[in-house]
Formats: sequence, C-alpha cells, structure tokens
Amino acid sequence: MQTYYITTPIYYINAQPHIGHSYTSIIADILARFRRFQGNKVFFLTGTDEHGQKIQRAAEEQGCSPQEFADDMVASFKKMGEALHISNDDFIRTTEERHTKTVQKLFSLIKENNDIYKGLYTGLYCVPCESFWSQTQLEEKKYCPDCSREVEELSEETYFFRLSKYAPIIQKHIKENPSFCEPEWKRNEILARLEEGVNDLSVSRTTFRWGIPVPHDDDHVIYVWFDALINYLSGINYFDENSPCQPLWPADLHLIGKEIAWFHAVIWPCMLMSAGIPLPQKVFSHGWLTIGGEKMSKSLGNSIDPFVITEKFTTDALRYYLSSQINFGSDGDYSEEKLVQKYNADLANCIGNLLNRTVSMIKKYFNCSLPRIEIEDNACQTLITSSRQLSKKIEESYHTLSLHEISKAINEVADASNSFIVQKEPWKVAKTDNEEYLQQIMLTLLYAIAEITLNLYPLIPTSAQKMWEILGFEDRLAESTYNRLQEKYINQQKWKVVPGEIPFPRLEL
Ligand SMILES: [Zn+2]
Repeated sequence: MQTYYITTPIYYINAQPHIGHSYTSIIADILARFRRFQGNKVFFLTGTDEHGQKIQRAAEEQGCSPQEFADDMVASFKKMGEALHISNDDFIRTTEERHTKTVQKLFSLIKENNDIYKGLYTGLYCVPCESFWSQTQLEEKKYCPDCSREVEELSEETYFFRLSKYAPIIQKHIKENPSFCEPEWKRNEILARLEEGVNDLSVSRTTFRWGIPVPHDDDHVIYVWFDALINYLSGINYFDENSPCQPLWPADLHLIGKEIAWFHAVIWPCMLMSAGIPLPQKVFSHGWLTIGGEKMSKSLGNSIDPFVITEKFTTDALRYYLSSQINFGSDGDYSEEKLVQKYNADLANCIGNLLNRTVSMIKKYFNCSLPRIEIEDNACQTLITSSRQLSKKIEESYHTLSLHEISKAINEVADASNSFIVQKEPWKVAKTDNEEYLQQIMLTLLYAIAEITLNLYPLIPTSAQKMWEILGFEDRLAESTYNRLQEKYINQQKWKVVPGEIPFPRLEL
C-alpha cells in the first residue's frame, strides 16, 4: 500500500491560534483525507513548538512555569484541530520526551560527523522570531525582515552547524529537483539567497534555559528552530527501529507558510544530509491570509479567531472558503462577506439546490426508490460521463496542489446537472406515460450527485457525509475509499434515497 506522510509546521505557542494556523491545518487535512480516500496509508502530523526565549519570557510575565504556560496554550491548539475537524494521526509536542531524545540523537549524529563546532557568535538577533540576521537582510538596517521589529546585538558562546558546507549541495538539489521547493516564486527566492552565500548557523544558546540541553554540555540549550524542525522525525519515532511509523520517512510533503521556507527548504535538508538521512520529497509554501489587504498581526489586532468563525458559519463553510477562494500558494484576502457569498453561490444555491430538487422529485414520482436500468438517452450519458471524469480531473489538481481548481471542477458538474434538469423538464415527462425515460433522467442525476458528494468529501467532510446519507447509504466516508463507494453506488440494483435536511442552509452575514 502506498504511504503518504504529510506535516503541518508545529505551531509556535506564543499566541492563541488564529486563522493563519487554521488555514495550514485545513489544507493539510484536505490533502490527508484525499489520500486516505484514494486508499493510501496516510500519516498526518501536526503539533506545537514550545521552547525558546520568547516562551520563557511569556511564562515569566504570567507568573507561571514555561511548562504550565505551554500546557495551557497547547490545549487551545488541540481544540482548534477539533473545531476544524482535522484528522491528524498524531500530535507532537517539543516538550515530549520522545522529541527530546530524537533531537539529542540527531544533534549527536551531526556533531560526530564534525558538522557542529563551538565558537563565539556576535550578531543581530530578533527575539520574537528567534533568528539571527545579517546586516544586509535587515529592513532599513535595523528591523527584522520577518516581523519588522527592531533587532538586538547579541554576543555569546555557541555551537555552530556547518550550514556553509551543505548550502552548495542543497542549492544543486533544488536546481535538479525543482519540485522539492514550491511554488516556483519561492524556489527562485531561495535560490537567489543561496547564491549570495551562506554562513554557518548558530544552533545553541546560553542566555536562557527553556530548551533541550545540548548533549554533554548543560550550559547550552539547542536553538529553538533546530529543535523544532526535528519534530518531523520525532513524530514518527524515526530512530526507533521497532516503530511502525519509521518506514514513513522521507516525508512526502511539508506544508508550510511562506515565511518559514528558508528553514524548511535549506536548513532542515542540510541537517538531514549531515546526519545521512534522506530528504523530504517536497516543501510547499502557501501564501498569507490578509484581512482587508493587510497582513494579520498581533500589533494590528486584526487576528481572526477560528472558533468564532466556525461557530458563526460552520466548519465546512470555512474549509470550503479557504480551499476554494484562494489560489493556493499565493496570498489571499479573508473576509466574511466573501465567505458567505462563496458558500451561498456554490453550496447553498448550486449543489444544495440540485440535491434538494432531485430528491424531492424521486420522492414524488417514485416514492424514493429507483430500480437500476440501462441508460440510453444521449444527454444522460453525457452527464454521467462528465461526472465520472471528475475524480480524474481533480486528482491532477491535488497532485499539483492547485487546490482552488477542485471546487471549481465540482461546481461545473453541479451546474451541468442543474442545466440538465432545466433542459429535460422532468415535471413534464412525469405527466406522460414514459416512465422509463423519467427513470433514466432521475438515475442520471443520482449518479452525478454521488460523484459530486464523493469528490466534495475531503473539502467538507461533514456535509458530504450528510449528502451520502440522503443518497441512501450508511457508510462512514472517513472509513472507506472512493473506489469502494463508487463501485457500490454503480452496482446496486435499487436506489433508495432517504430525504433529509439538506446540509447547506443559506448563510446570512
Ligand atoms: Zn522578527
């Protein structure tokens, strides 16, 4: 069985979950559900990044221990996952023992390979981002390029990782395997930065304690980024030969926000190369969600709370909007108006209406039950063919991560089905004695709706489940596969629909 190992970044717990975290988790969940539905053995990992000076300071401000602070914040991130119906297989915390062991093991492997050495670091440091920056990277010579806050000069004894030794190798790897780092604009940006030359990376700190100790040197804790990246190994217990998850490596996809691409597409693979571990297949950076064109930030106070949105509009409405409205990989603007518009247009008016009309007619004309018959009518055959091609078409969009194409393709079939109803006017056919023709029309619509439902499942699992039940089936979509369910609906001798509440009530602002 084909395996598929997908990860989100582990979320830094310095702030409550916002819609940016939700975006990454939702997209990763859609990809994971799609692969499971294809019959792959999927491992979907998410988690939390809990170390570093920023967390230690935040805990001090609240008068609690960093561990207490972390436990509290992690609960919120787990709750976010539940609210968004995220189907992760594991949740890794960097304060877990399995993680500490893995980090220390990898650090030791790299050190044994002579790629970690002790030195003195003086540099410009952004405390909130836990990043050192070179003078040329700074905005207006003193502001962090990631968060625009002022950097501080910091001098300390530190361990260095020989990033400079591996930078040319990763540069070559990216050039020869463009799909390793996507989308293209991000790859070009990374390659340009590599072209400028890369210094060795400071990977330990002595100025605070909240981190994983360097093996055999307790004065140092491991740099939070170095620590965090290793979650992708600790989450599958990589160094444990008996772990059932160990064969999952290398990861198929690290899904990340674009601001952390350097860490994932350069530093992380260089660490792995030094330790002799194969590289992940792909690092894909998605864009940022903006609010009314502005970047979301704590200082602007324009963060969107995912709990409020899912309460107000349902989880599926948010999932559908984020996966359909934004060209995946680019920035996208979030607004409630657009969410409501998109939901009402596609789900309430187009798909919901199609399901509602079809089921009502089958109830009225056939008392909910249709026998399987040969479909001879040309227009019927055309609609059936295009609906059965949907999954192939969509598969391509999943493979290229052109996620916004998916809902578009589904809606095209739904539009065609609605037009088919208008064109066939079943209510007129019902007044003639051509019952077999009416059966063909209705069966064709059921075939199309079944395909729409199965293809909607990864995007909006709860609503698709309800649709499947209205179509008369009891299977749990999350526990089955596309092929199995398609075979089932095609081969059943009698189709019995179960009219129920259509899952797409119109939303109001
Ligand atoms: Zn910063």
